[in-house]
Amino acid sequence: MARIYNFSAGPATLPLPVLEQVAREMVELPGAGASIMEISHRSKKFDEIIAGAEAGLRELLGLPANYHVLFLQGGASLQFAMAPMNLLAGGKKADFLITGAWGQKALKDAQKFGNVRVAANTKDTNFTRVPTADEISLDPDAEYVHITTNETIQGVEWPREPETNGVPIVADASSDILSRPIDVEKYGLIYAGAQKNIGPSGVTLVILRDDLLQKCAGDLPAMLDYRVQAENKSLYNTPNTFGIYVINLVCDYLKTQGGLAGMQAKNEAKAKVLYDVIDGTNFYTGHAEVGSRSQMNVTFRLPSEELEKRLVDEAKAAGMVELKGHRSVGGLRASIYNAFPREGIVALTEFMKEFERRNG
Ligand code: PMP
Repeated sequence: MARIYNFSAGPATLPLPVLEQVAREMVELPGAGASIMEISHRSKKFDEIIAGAEAGLRELLGLPANYHVLFLQGGASLQFAMAPMNLLAGGKKADFLITGAWGQKALKDAQKFGNVRVAANTKDTNFTRVPTADEISLDPDAEYVHITTNETIQGVEWPREPETNGVPIVADASSDILSRPIDVEKYGLIYAGAQKNIGPSGVTLVILRDDLLQKCAGDLPAMLDYRVQAENKSLYNTPNTFGIYVINLVCDYLKTQGGLAGMQAKNEAKAKVLYDVIDGTNFYTGHAEVGSRSQMNVTFRLPSEELEKRLVDEAKAAGMVELKGHRSVGGLRASIYNAFPREGIVALTEFMKEFERRNG
């Protein structure tokens, strides 16, 4: 059986060399005499692995020493609550810029813990774009501005960070972290579920600037307290050891690909192949506006739901799976993260052109 082209939004395609290494080392991790899943998270071997994963992420993202790197659990979804619990206790303020479904969810949990305001929301235009600078009204006294760097469901991505005049950005970067270089200094907190660009599900990467950490609420349950997690270097309890091991390998792989600048060039070229086909015809219609569209999740529609279903089914039969859009928005979505091969996108576009000839 051959590997299919897997357009899943997450868990998603991982780099083949990483999977092959995991397979080789599954029964006996070199130097450990046992598998990664069988060794203590307090062992010297695991110390090396978690330190390697942290160092890899620091190098790729260019993280200065005043940023903590944590490997937590509970998914990006737990960060929707954990960030405001830590950073907004006592009625502190935050501004939210809402550009899609995940930002709405983050907002809903934050409202339970802080004095939260929506400073821009593109829902009225069906989440097809990020807000313009004129549409954003920020509170200079807010603790942070929350954004979703890439809305996975709508396929809407911030082309660059919004101007927040020094107020730290708190970002859900689940679906575009490591896909391009970022201006780290603008961020107070970055969180991301691992299962798209970083590794397997079950680990959440949390990158937190030290001045924000120092201001965190002091009376939270240990597992929900960033300070406890940072003091214990993500080892307050048993972390997802396997996931952290894979993250270490993914970082090594990304370094061989030219780091994040290399990934950005590859990702832009890959997305262009697909957007060119969508833009070149009236048969396919992109969901997001050109200046806001995602390099990771390409969302588009066909003239009818019946044709959409037919394309998804026929593509599946041809070895291209998970093209159905999220149930909340319909249409199609091709998720093409870092590890998704360019050949798979070329195959999809050839298929789409042929499908249009038969059904257009
Ligand atoms: N935020 C974004 C942008 C996502 O794409 C997802 C998952 N698709 C989540 C949050 C939720 O992540 P998790 O399942 O890790 O809680």
